[in-house]
Parts: sequence; C-alpha cells; structure tokens
Amino acid sequence: MMQDIHHRQIKDLRISVTDRCNFRCTYCMPFDEYEWIDRQEILTYEEIARLAGIFVQLGVDKIRLTGGEPLLRKNLERLVSKLSGLPRLKDLCLTTNGSLLVEKAGALRAAGLKRINVSIDTLNPEKFKRMNKRGDLARVLEGVSAAQSHGFTRIKINAVIERGVNDDDIIGLVEFSRKHGFAIRFIEYMDVGNSNNWQSEKMVSKKEILKTIHACFPLREIGREDGSAPSVDYEFIDGGGDVGVIASVTEPFCSSCTRARLTADGKFVTCLFSETGHDLKALLRNGASDEEITERIAATWRKRTDRYSDERLEAMNSSRGYQPAEHKKIEMIRLGG
Ligand code: SAM
Repeated sequence: MMQDIHHRQIKDLRISVTDRCNFRCTYCMPFDEYEWIDRQEILTYEEIARLAGIFVQLGVDKIRLTGGEPLLRKNLERLVSKLSGLPRLKDLCLTTNGSLLVEKAGALRAAGLKRINVSIDTLNPEKFKRMNKRGDLARVLEGVSAAQSHGFTRIKINAVIERGVNDDDIIGLVEFSRKHGFAIRFIEYMDVGNSNNWQSEKMVSKKEILKTIHACFPLREIGREDGSAPSVDYEFIDGGGDVGVIASVTEPFCSSCTRARLTADGKFVTCLFSETGHDLKALLRNGASDEEITERIAATWRKRTDRYSDERLEAMNSSRGYQPAEHKKIEMIRLGG
C-alpha cells in the first residue's frame, strides 16, 4: 500500500481534460483570456488512459473527469469508454457546468460513465449569468433533466457560496435538490488559483451554511463517505435526501486527503493549491516504460508533504493572517476542480 509522509494513501484521481471553459465564473476564472495550454501539449485520450491505468495499479479506485469544462473536449465519451474498462476502478464521475449535457449525456452513459456532478450556484437566471458571465441557466437545467432521463441517478449539484452574492440562494437550492432527488454539496469559497481575488470575508462558512439549512430543514450528520470524501454529509430528518458541505477553509481535511490530480498537459499534482506539478507527459513522450512511470508517480506520492488548507487555517488564526497573494498556485482550470 502506497502512503505519503502523512500516511495518506492514493485513492482518487482528478483528471483535467482541458483548461478551456465556456463559462467565466467570477470565483474561479474571472478573466476572458488566460495563457492557454498549447494544443500539442494536451494529453491525448490514449495517453490519459495509459496514465490512469498506472494510477489504478497504484491504488486509485475513483476517477473524476473535470477541467476547465470537460464537455468542451471533443468526443469525451471515447475517453470514458477507455477508462470505464479499467479493472479495479470502482467509480468514474464527471464534474461539469452542465451547459453541454443535453447533447452529451446519452453518449457518456452508453460509454460507462457512472455519476455526474453539475455546478449550479443559483436558480435565478440573471444572477446565474452574473456569476459565470456566459451561462444560460435554462440550458443547464435541461442538461440535468437529460442526464436523468438517460439513467444517471444520484446526480449531485455543486454550489459555491459567496457572501453577498448567492448566500440567499441556499434554501432555494436545497428545495430544488429535494424536489428532484439530487444530492447537493455546498462548497466554501476557496482561494484557488491566483485570479479570483479571494478574501476570507467573502467565504460563507460550513457552520453558517448548515445553520441556514437546519432552520428550514432539520439535519442529522452522516459523516464523510468512505471516511475521506471532501464533503461532510447530513441527512434531512424528514427523509428528504441529503446535503453536504465541503469546508476546505474552516474545517480542512488535509489529514485524510487521498486525492491526486493530473493536469491537461500531463503534470501530476498532489494538492489543489500546489504551485508546481511533476511532468509525466515528458516521460510518456520520451518512451518511458510503465514501470518507469509507476516508479516516478510512486516516488512523488511517497514524498508528498502538502497540507495547504491546514496551513491556511493556521495562518488565518495567526496575528499576521493569511496572505493569498504570497502563493502562486496553479490555476484550478489547469489542475481540475
Ligand atoms: N467546469 C466544470 C464545472 O463547472 O463544474 C468543472 C471544473 S470546476 C473548476 C469544478 C468545481 O470547482 C465546480 O463545482 C466549481 O464550482 C468549483 N470551484 C471553482 N472555483 C472555486 C472556488 N474558488 N471555491 C470553491 N469551489 C470552486
């Protein structure tokens, strides 16, 4: 069993299949233009599948496809079909903004995709557009329905809550999820990347989110799925489903983090807040054997020491406070949310 310095195993792999996105969520990638990864540098599906197979051999049993917006990558179902055949892989999921789900849900299901998470931060169409600059809420909702009709069950809705922006949408999102049988996961607004101008005051804490929900729909804690999922889950006492909160800022879960990330250009990254990655594409394209690549991944994981969110909280609680601008992190669109 492969463990890092803090005895964490590798269990989950998040693969960013593209750094491009058709939305510009203000909390994630607010600018119109970025320094995009050159097309030749983007891993092919064959390269991704080869690396994924090696990660699975090392203990990964769950893969999430993300980005950027993963559905912008042409024929993503071709990759899904390669990954869904990997022996020992228990879960294969997709995180999407849902804008292209109407077109893609059927093919993804047929190719073996197991689960879908759709990011919806508000059910108010104007606010939706303000928050992501380019999206059409009606289209996303049609996409979620399409996913349901193609047989996806336990669809999860992800919502990032930003103070003064959509903290008044929490109950509406809960009601929507309960009505349609979705599981909803609220995410504390995080200081990902370098461009979202994160300030701790804009972050609505897990405690506040739960208090708001509990006042309308009483909750009982279930805990973390598998003991290591980022979300702490709660069930509605009236049996109306469940809700979770990902509290990376106020209740960091670094000590149980089993997640690795692969950027669209083949960098292996061990933390969402990393400043650098480890180049696996160079190995792939220089003819390295599976054994050599396995050894590189294993050596990197075994040396893993990162505990960024723990350190952020320590800094926030110190007299100096946390200074986000002092950290030059990889953009979230590159390493996958
Ligand atoms: N485009 C896809 C989507 O919209 O779901 C996948 C990529 S997106 C980076 C993955 C997830 O990260 C989304 O649920 C998004 O809301 C979340 N996310 C992005 N920026 C965030 C931030 N600053 N704080 C918390 N979550 C964030």
